[in-house]
Amino acid sequence: MQNNPNTTLITATAPVAANTHGGRAKCLQRLVRLELPVPRTVALSFGAVHDIAEGQMPDIAAVLEQFDETDLLCVRPSSEDPDWGGPGAILNIGMNDARYVELSDSMGADAAAALYLRFVQNYAVHVARLDPDVFEDVVDEGPQGLSEVLHAYEAETDEQFPQDPAEQLSEVLKSMARAWEGTTARLLRQAKGAPADAGLGLVVQQMIPGVGQGECGSGVLQLINRSTGMPQITGRYLSQSQGRDALGAGSGALYLEKDARGPSLEELAPEAFEELKTHAALMRAKLREEMQVEFVIESGHAHILDGVRVPRSARASVRIAVRLAEDGIIPQEEAVMRIEPHSLNELLHRQVDPEATRDVLTTGIAASPGAATGKIVFTAAEAQASAARSEPCILVRRETSPEDVRGMHAAVAVLTEKGGMTSHAAVIGRGMGLPCIVGASDMTFQTKKKTLTAPDGRVFKTGDTLTIDGSSGQVLAGQPAMLEAALDECFQTLMGWADQARDIGIRANADTPADAQTARNFDAQGIGLCRTEHMFFDPGRLTVMREMIFADEPSGRAAALERLLPMQREDFTQLFRIMQGKPVCIRLFDPPLHEFLPTTRTGQRELAEALDIPVSDVTRRVEAMSEYNPMLGLRGVRLGVTVPEIYDMQARAIFEATIEASRDGAPVVPEVMIPLVSAKREVELVKVRIDAVAAAVAQERGQDFDYRLGVMVETPRACLRADEIAPNTAFLSFGTNDLTQMTYGLSRDDAGRFMSAYVQQGVFNEDPFHVLDTDGVGELLQLGAARARAAQPGLTLSVCGEHGGNPESIAFCRDAGFDYVSCSPFRVPVARLAAAQLAIAHKLGESPL
Ligand code: PEP
Ligand code: MG
Repeated sequence: MQNNPNTTLITATAPVAANTHGGRAKCLQRLVRLELPVPRTVALSFGAVHDIAEGQMPDIAAVLEQFDETDLLCVRPSSEDPDWGGPGAILNIGMNDARYVELSDSMGADAAAALYLRFVQNYAVHVARLDPDVFEDVVDEGPQGLSEVLHAYEAETDEQFPQDPAEQLSEVLKSMARAWEGTTARLLRQAKGAPADAGLGLVVQQMIPGVGQGECGSGVLQLINRSTGMPQITGRYLSQSQGRDALGAGSGALYLEKDARGPSLEELAPEAFEELKTHAALMRAKLREEMQVEFVIESGHAHILDGVRVPRSARASVRIAVRLAEDGIIPQEEAVMRIEPHSLNELLHRQVDPEATRDVLTTGIAASPGAATGKIVFTAAEAQASAARSEPCILVRRETSPEDVRGMHAAVAVLTEKGGMTSHAAVIGRGMGLPCIVGASDMTFQTKKKTLTAPDGRVFKTGDTLTIDGSSGQVLAGQPAMLEAALDECFQTLMGWADQARDIGIRANADTPADAQTARNFDAQGIGLCRTEHMFFDPGRLTVMREMIFADEPSGRAAALERLLPMQREDFTQLFRIMQGKPVCIRLFDPPLHEFLPTTRTGQRELAEALDIPVSDVTRRVEAMSEYNPMLGLRGVRLGVTVPEIYDMQARAIFEATIEASRDGAPVVPEVMIPLVSAKREVELVKVRIDAVAAAVAQERGQDFDYRLGVMVETPRACLRADEIAPNTAFLSFGTNDLTQMTYGLSRDDAGRFMSAYVQQGVFNEDPFHVLDTDGVGELLQLGAARARAAQPGLTLSVCGEHGGNPESIAFCRDAGFDYVSCSPFRVPVARLAAAQLAIAHKLGESPL
């Protein structure tokens, strides 16, 4: 039996493996090797169980021979990965009328009846497939209840309850094997990541009854708190119980360690408690994992039925991995590999408590993680007013535009009807660490009437309380309980280990000093993209900006820019100071100018007043500047070429700030980036002017400085012509948001409307604005990178689109030989961890994804 690969007695040396007999069988073998008190167990292989489902039974007599004739048995599932589940365990196989009489003598009639009754009921429902309602009227758990249950079984099946242990075991095995092959079970496990043909093993184990004379019972024990990961003996024990009864027993169950709230196992059976603690510590050290120990106590002594990995929260995962490495049980690199990078989002942001009840109104696109509760408001101005009253608010808009940025700053979360992963609200939300849901198109947004109607008809108006769960995309009514962010010491330790292993740089996209501070706190290696246009939306600057846009003469424009210069210089000085010693890449002005003009009548009237011109002039100008396709219109370098004064002013501000910030620290070497380039000549024209500004500033100030000029590659043509663009530059940074938009011809602001239909119907595997399309956009990246490097070896290459924070996309960038990726500050830790895992997996020759 020991060497039979299909029905194997689990011994220290038997041929048992997770991929042939399942995780439980393998774990039991490890416990046997540790000489822990594990009941005798026979493991049935995936092949044997598959054959059983097909009607071919193994030698049941040979299995039974492994056990004592008086033993009761249980059968438990053993799938390759315990998370894939399996049919429920069936206990007390072997109970029949004769055993009942014998056990009544040794353990008392009540205990014996409880064992038999449990078996008959489980057998009836799972094996004979009777409706559980058949036993609805049975309340007694003793001999009386047993007799009722047996009668009910006979009445329903017209047969006596099977008395032969071999028949009982055969039928149990058949029912469990068939349950695994059923469609529902297959879909359920596939949803958990199991392959379609995943196998099931079964283990047949000697029962330690958990009921009877002396202290008997069952329970589970673990050495940590599963929410925090802190060392703490947790679990439950229930006298006179079996299986996992203790967990569902509520107040009937005992604490394990002495506890002021009630009686404990430590007091009731101190010896068994000590044994269990020792066993659990040994399991932790030897199985290299925090294990939940399933145990039975029989006459004051502990038996171990099973060990499973303790289910845990993300924050507990980090602490557990770090403590195991600090205790020398696993190497640091393994601790890094054990944490799922996306799960860090749970630590970096407040979350809806997983235990809380959720009143879900709808689910939109989870555009920026974290959760927040607030009163809804429908305009940026209301959001600011609400913040002034210190009332947390949620900004609800059909979509957001740069005009809403201040409102977003004032809000605790944002909800929009339109948009996708790279729409305005999503990008800004992630940048600010602001929970955000976009594309909630199942709700009706009536922003003029200031109402929001849920699909179930509930109407919410200004001041009503909602919760935005930007991690799941759920919009919730009311205020569920929350868990705070947890950036504790263990998190920092883990990230430190990750950085030691990592071999691709991680920078942050940061527009404001606050963003830069977040980037610094999360140990970004610099700023990879500072979108300067956001700096102009401050009310004090917006009017000056508008004056500049409205100026008819170059002199008027120069005067307005003159006033913007010190403001920009101050912005950049602050950024350089915060990022001292690290590179900062500043992108010159990118959006179309009309984004700065007011769109509402009131806004236009206010502007007319400020500029002292008739409203009709303002309206005319706004209309004249509107474009059919603004994202493909006069923006980026096209403005740099046609209205060069803007870039001149920005370049001056950058260089003056460079001198300023270098005064009290290491010399700053700014990186200046030109957006939306599609032709070499654009770069040449801008470069000449920027070099001239640099020379002028150096001469005026009598101080030399270095700077690096680079190009943002976000049009397909720039990728194709990278060989001729690269020689004029020190770096190329691929803006994969626009590049994806232009490669697909798919508007990043409108794609949210049909993205889910496209993903559902398999047109796209994933939203290409979220996960890089490695086939199409990726080919352009590879081609651009190769052509640029061939023309100018040593050129720095990076990705600064939103994809930079996505683990799958980072893998692509690393393989393509990019120097760094840049992402929203709050995604920096996720990116650092993902990048470290890639490097470690590469070293070990494995794929982490
Ligand atoms: C991009 O296009 O990828 C990018 C980073 O720029 P933005 O999102 O500001 O257009
Ligand atoms: Mg862009």
